[in-house]
Amino acid sequence: MNHTATTSQGFRPVFSSDDLQRNLAAVNARIRQACEHSGRQPDSVRLLPVSKTVDLARIRMAHAAGCTLLGENKVQEAWSKAQSTTDLTDLRWSVIGHLQTNKARIVARFASEFQALDSLRLAAELDKRLSREERCLDVLVQVNTSGEASKYGLEPAQLEAFMRQLTAFPTLRVKGLMTLAALTTDQQRIRRCFVLLRQQLQQMQQQLSYGDQLYELSMGMSSDFELAIHEGATTVRVGQAIFGPRALPDSYYWPEQTGA
Ligand SMILES: *Cc1c(COP(=O)(O)O)cnc(C)c1O
Repeated sequence: MNHTATTSQGFRPVFSSDDLQRNLAAVNARIRQACEHSGRQPDSVRLLPVSKTVDLARIRMAHAAGCTLLGENKVQEAWSKAQSTTDLTDLRWSVIGHLQTNKARIVARFASEFQALDSLRLAAELDKRLSREERCLDVLVQVNTSGEASKYGLEPAQLEAFMRQLTAFPTLRVKGLMTLAALTTDQQRIRRCFVLLRQQLQQMQQQLSYGDQLYELSMGMSSDFELAIHEGATTVRVGQAIFGPRALPDSYYWPEQTGA
């Protein structure tokens, strides 16, 4: 068994608050540096820590370290964590993964942001549920920039018509666009996804009546957020570089048992 493969991206595991603070500080330093290298203001990029699969102990460590907005891919996991942390009154949740229409009511109940809007049915359902809760929701529209059929999100060609129709939903505060880059180590392919999202946002800013309210470009994750910042990201969604690697084999923790 090759246990070094699991550490090739260099994500450092988190056992203690110190570990988490060290990871968080390192990510923030890399963000600042990427901003500097791209001639951008450091406060022009928002770090969204992604806590999917992360247990409550580490979520509490993150909050103690100053994280007040956490990203979760699955709404049920997010909702359950939100219910277990109601004592942390300033902790808010951003749902960043695909949402089935029948789960819109859960998002409407507790999320402060939703980054994966990609259908009018879902928009209508969210708006209906949010009205009942007398709440508003910040939303980003997910765009498929990779051309991969398996990816959720709208095709760029559908975007303008879709976004025009969102004005019908007063509880949705549309802030911009989100994408998942191609799943590849090919930096040029990843970069093309980021560039495409930036170009789409520029077009929407020019073409839509509410274009001046659009500014968010949510793109970049643990392995590519510097590249995303270089291409204009305003939000980077970072999980493993903060909370440690996900789904590791035991061999990572007990390498002497691997026989390697
Ligand atoms: C998990 C996830 C991330 C973060 O990925 P890491 O590799 O942990 O940084 C970002 N965006 C979405 C939509 C995710 O599901």
